[in-house]
Amino acid sequence: MAVGWSRDGDVQEQIDATVESGVQLARSRLSKGESSTHCEECGDAIPEDRRKAIPGVRLCVDCQSELEKGQKKASTLFNRAGSKDSQLK
Ligand SMILES: [Zn+2]
Repeated sequence: MAVGWSRDGDVQEQIDATVESGVQLARSRLSKGESSTHCEECGDAIPEDRRKAIPGVRLCVDCQSELEKGQKKASTLFNRAGSKDSQLK
């Protein structure tokens, strides 16, 4: 059935988006060795515990979670656009 086909496509898009943002997240977390003492986004001091816990950390907790939220939002928008497109066909 055509409906079944387009649902499979949506699921695959969601998986791709999830994997992609996961990789980006991992990259931003593992960015080259040294941790920043201050957040690159807002300039707040990053607690030493956080720097030890996440080698190469560049963002404070607030900015990191904002970044993660933004990535999730972008994935959701992408999937919505994909679903809408499928419904038109
Ligand atoms: Zn920050």
